[in-house]
Amino acid sequence: MSGIYIHVPFCKSKCTYCDFASFPKEIGKTESYFACLYREIEGRGRQLKDKTFSTVYIGGGTPSVVPSKFIAGAIRQVKKFFNLTPNAEITIEINPGTVDADKIKEYKSVGINRFSIGLQTGYDDQLKRLNRVHTAKDFLLCMNLLKGENVSADVLLGLADQTLEQVLKTAELAIAGGVKHISAYALTPEVGTPIYTDYLNGELPSGDEVADLYDGLKEYLKRKGFNRYEVSNFALDGFESKHNLNYWMRGEYIGLGVSASSFIDGRRFTNTFSIDEYMNAIIYNKSPEISSDVIEGDDAEFEFIMLALRTRYGIDLAEFKKQFGVDLKEKYKDVLALKAEYINVTDKNITIKDDYLYVQNDIIMAFLRD
Ligand code: SF4
Repeated sequence: MSGIYIHVPFCKSKCTYCDFASFPKEIGKTESYFACLYREIEGRGRQLKDKTFSTVYIGGGTPSVVPSKFIAGAIRQVKKFFNLTPNAEITIEINPGTVDADKIKEYKSVGINRFSIGLQTGYDDQLKRLNRVHTAKDFLLCMNLLKGENVSADVLLGLADQTLEQVLKTAELAIAGGVKHISAYALTPEVGTPIYTDYLNGELPSGDEVADLYDGLKEYLKRKGFNRYEVSNFALDGFESKHNLNYWMRGEYIGLGVSASSFIDGRRFTNTFSIDEYMNAIIYNKSPEISSDVIEGDDAEFEFIMLALRTRYGIDLAEFKKQFGVDLKEKYKDVLALKAEYINVTDKNITIKDDYLYVQNDIIMAFLRD
């Protein structure tokens, strides 16, 4: 399984916690950016003509902020130059307040079959404080446009003064709206973002308080039939994100557009974070890559272990042997003994016990070899 990621680096405004490659002031470059993106899609598609891809993910930024004809054009271009499986999962990230019925219709007409909505919280005062452009009502209007579709919602944990009741009400709102999948991320106050000041002022909850919000949400979602299949991801049966599962299985993916990362043939590489640099590179037939690393040996094994242990499926021992020619239970028997209390080991796989999945870092780091 391999995936395609397409980055749309435009938003209406900048959220207070955002350190993604999104540039609200550069939205005037939309047309020229997409012209370059189409060219990169063609070039990469020709290079990768021997591979087959089964997912496409259009992320951002806010892909739904640009006219839908550009998104439709990107999908058509992907279908023209890449081998896509006939039933490929094609996801677009959308933000409430930036879509209407015509946009959704055009998305669906080119085969987009999964929608990921940035809800974050169901409380308008919190949305305003985060500088999000939507309200809870906008979310419900958006869900109304997406009736019967495969929809996921993002929820943020760790907002200033956020209570468990608010987190659960937000999840309730999402479920009432009809979502089949919820991603719950702990807010990370990155240096340089406005919310970092709130963090320095002690206005954000502590790590333990966020862990309590997470545990409460996990239990609530379980009761509603949403199974946790990765640390931050919960889904009704059959609605797991195939695109993200591919990342966690250390599958290959090609990233297209500004800041997009790729993992192809054992090499990880990333495009420039500057829109102008990206467009210049494409126009002058240069590579937009700014970094490239071949991952091999213990580093590759560690990546596989780290990614797999984030999921409820854990490390597939046969797959590990197939990829690295190594018996994991033998090579890492010291780690397995050291962490026995926290992990389940069977003949087929190794998983982190349910209660420890949220605090998996220590367990995972024990697999790191010097
Ligand atoms: S919508 Fe997303 S990408 Fe855009 S500014 Fe907000 S957090 Fe960043």
